[in-house]
Amino acid sequence: MTINRPSPLRDRIAAVEVRIERALEESMRSRESVTLVAVSKRQPLSVIVAAHELGLQHFGESQIQEGVPKVKAAPDDIVWHFIGHLQKNKVRKAVKHFAYIHSIDSMSLLQRLDGIAAEERVCPKIFLQVNYVLDPDKFGLHPEAVRPVLETALSLRHVTPVGLMGIPPLDWGSEKIRGFFEGMERLRDELRADFPDWPGKLSLGMTADFEEALRAGSNFIRVGTALFGPRST
Ligand SMILES: *Cc1c(COP(=O)(O)O)cnc(C)c1O
Repeated sequence: MTINRPSPLRDRIAAVEVRIERALEESMRSRESVTLVAVSKRQPLSVIVAAHELGLQHFGESQIQEGVPKVKAAPDDIVWHFIGHLQKNKVRKAVKHFAYIHSIDSMSLLQRLDGIAAEERVCPKIFLQVNYVLDPDKFGLHPEAVRPVLETALSLRHVTPVGLMGIPPLDWGSEKIRGFFEGMERLRDELRADFPDWPGKLSLGMTADFEEALRAGSNFIRVGTALFGPRST
């Protein structure tokens, strides 16, 4: 690919970078404090390869069946994130192919993950998914269940607890979403006071709301549409 050929993908990546930098500037945070996870679900492998050539390093998939063939075929220096609901019978594939799993939503899933990661000799980085507003349409731990699951995660040898993940309800306006992100940040701060060795990173923010998430301190933003345009269904 020549440097000057016009590329809508290049423009969209640049536009997302501008949005990130502006939001970080307002909160005096460095670009290094944030990882942009390019959500490539329902996008073809060619898009992943092109985005990787343009400098993106972290990619996210939300389904094992769709994601694993893409992981296997894509450049092998990509860091892969699993961001969707993880079924128990897909745990082995998840730990074999994804460095990060953002969606640990039960104690039993955590324990199964640790056992299988031990067998596969890996140590995936994990986020505990919190159903912060008890949204019936979302997976995730009840906020009060997070502490015992985190305590267990920190005692296990084959998972690396990185932080908390949350997804606000689809139909919420920006005011309520801000409250959601700030609530997640508070929960993280409370937990980190009790578990000082836990990194306590936040995986919050998607195309519509990642600036708000960055202002609330998010460290991993999961962005699909703003980078790749609408998904095929
Ligand atoms: C699809 C998805 C995203 C990306 O959503 P966009 O609005 O396209 O940026 C982020 N996180 C999760 C968990 C997703 O399923």
